[in-house]
Amino acid sequence: MASRVDAIVAGAGVVGLACAAELARRGQEVVVLERNARAGEGISSRNSGVIHAGLYYPPGSLKARLCVRGRDLLYRFCAEHGVPHRRCGKWVVATSAQECAALRALHERAGINGAGPVHWLEGAALRSRAPGLAAVAALEVEPSGLVDVAALVLALEAELQRLGGVLLTHGEVVAVEPDAEGFRVRVAGQDAVRCTRFVNACGLGAQALAERTSGVPCARIPALHYAAGHYYRLRRGGVPFDRLVYPLPGPSGLGVHLGFDPAGRPRFGPDVRFLDHEDYRFDDSRREPFAEAIRRWWPALQAEDLVPDFVGIRPKLAGPGGGSPDFVIQDARDHGLPGLVQLFGIESPGLTSALAIAEEVARRLEV
Ligand SMILES: Cc1cc2nc3c(=O)[nH]c(=O)nc-3n(C[C@H](O)[C@H](O)[C@H](O)COP(=O)(O)OP(=O)(O)OC[C@H]3O[C@@H](n4cnc5c(N)ncnc54)[C@H](O)[C@@H]3O)c2cc1C
Repeated sequence: MASRVDAIVAGAGVVGLACAAELARRGQEVVVLERNARAGEGISSRNSGVIHAGLYYPPGSLKARLCVRGRDLLYRFCAEHGVPHRRCGKWVVATSAQECAALRALHERAGINGAGPVHWLEGAALRSRAPGLAAVAALEVEPSGLVDVAALVLALEAELQRLGGVLLTHGEVVAVEPDAEGFRVRVAGQDAVRCTRFVNACGLGAQALAERTSGVPCARIPALHYAAGHYYRLRRGGVPFDRLVYPLPGPSGLGVHLGFDPAGRPRFGPDVRFLDHEDYRFDDSRREPFAEAIRRWWPALQAEDLVPDFVGIRPKLAGPGGGSPDFVIQDARDHGLPGLVQLFGIESPGLTSALAIAEEVARRLEV
């Protein structure tokens, strides 16, 4: 490797890989440093795999803009690189007259955000399109879909390599120190590497690395809150739906929804439970309220038919009651270090937005 490369990206999740591929596409010599043995084993391996349309987020926010752009880029990338995906659409349901008002507001926001086509369904139209769905009204969101995230990670890795980028696994970045031309990056058990530009895309590890990046003011590092989400699958049988089904969004998440794994098997989740550290053990003690949330729109579900599947952890920037703050993408204007971009709070819709985040990062780095 050259004594100084143009850019180093720390973290090989979907976001880090997408950033690295984008920088390589723009002619940069890029190295990705990943502490695990393989790419994509962090947050990117424990999520719903949903390609979001972009209806939920406050207009003008990074989430709103990057989700809509990222969704379009992701569908194109999947088609061009043979990544299994399905534009299956989804229903967001209102189960009472009161919820209809919130659903109307969501419909309006979908229009403002450019998330469409999104259709309002009620009465006979709803019953004929979604028999079995216990809802007063629903939004039918056409652009929503599913992607096989493991295949996406492999495709991003292949694209990075095709563009001349390098992925180094077992490469934990332990410190970043600014030098005259950029940064000196210290890697556990290995020689330091120098680069002109550095991207911190470490997901749940982003704050810890920012704390070990000399010159980054502590006050600029947002607090990290671990918000676990549990997923269940079905012991037997299937569901009478061929689309994703979502309730109205909750205070810290989009609500326990119906999705499908890459093999097409139904999967429910995720709930929201704040933890004080990264812990992937499955806590089955709240199965009944979990089932109750689903029965509001699918009354046939039995709690005993739910089988624990897995736990994912969101890198949230707010604790209980704090909502879902926007993505934080920091450049020199925020921390004073030219050539450094740090990504914090890349929770949902981070998967959908990854390719658009990559464009944004390249723009902030003036590449
Ligand atoms: C329960 C749940 C459901 C979700 N569902 C959806 C969804 O349906 N649709 C959607 O769009 N988004 C969804 N998301 C969000 C999406 O999964 C994330 O936004 C996305 O995967 C984040 O990717 P990342 O690359 O930032 O993080 P990660 O995938 O975690 O990658 C970060 C990488 O950095 C590495 N790392 C950490 N520290 C260091 C270090 N010091 N040195 C080197 N490497 C380091 C880690 O090992 C890891 O591989 C969901 C998230 C969760 C938790």
